[in-house]
Amino acid sequence: MKVAVYPGSFDPITNGHLDILNRACSLFDKVIVLVANNPHKSSNFSVEDRVEMIKEAVNNNPKIEVTSDSGLTVEFAKKHGATHLIRGLRAVSDFEYEFQLASANEFIDSKIDTVFLMARGDKTFISSSSIITMAKQGVDVSKLVPASVLKRLK
Ligand code: ADP
Repeated sequence: MKVAVYPGSFDPITNGHLDILNRACSLFDKVIVLVANNPHKSSNFSVEDRVEMIKEAVNNNPKIEVTSDSGLTVEFAKKHGATHLIRGLRAVSDFEYEFQLASANEFIDSKIDTVFLMARGDKTFISSSSIITMAKQGVDVSKLVPASVLKRLK
């Protein structure tokens, strides 16, 4: 069984994240969505809320598990029998950060590889922070986030 971990802040999850997640599900038998629990980073939603919003959005897909952890992603992956990490790439601006992160993870454990999926054209502008900004200004974001997020933004 091929298992991958899709780590991120998911603060909150967007349709951009969900697109990457669904595409990862066609490549792996199981995908574990890992919400990073970083108490030093300020967030819009609590870890518990972020996990709950993702669980509601994936709607009992048997291939997907959702959890949170505050440790190293590669250690989590190893412990759960995962061989790959999933990350999404939007603009060139994502590249530098993602390349550094993937290289650091490779340094920690070269057996865990990172797989990058390119954002779909219509989702390249979606980020958790842009959702928060637009929602605060009263923009209708219903086409950009799942219903579980929309109801909490209101
Ligand atoms: P992090 O704080 O770890 O970067 P994010 O929740 O912001 O967590 O993002 C998690 C992953 O999902 C990152 O690899 C990011 O590039 C990717 N991602 C975020 N938004 C999109 C999108 N609209 N399309 C494709 N990938 C995305």
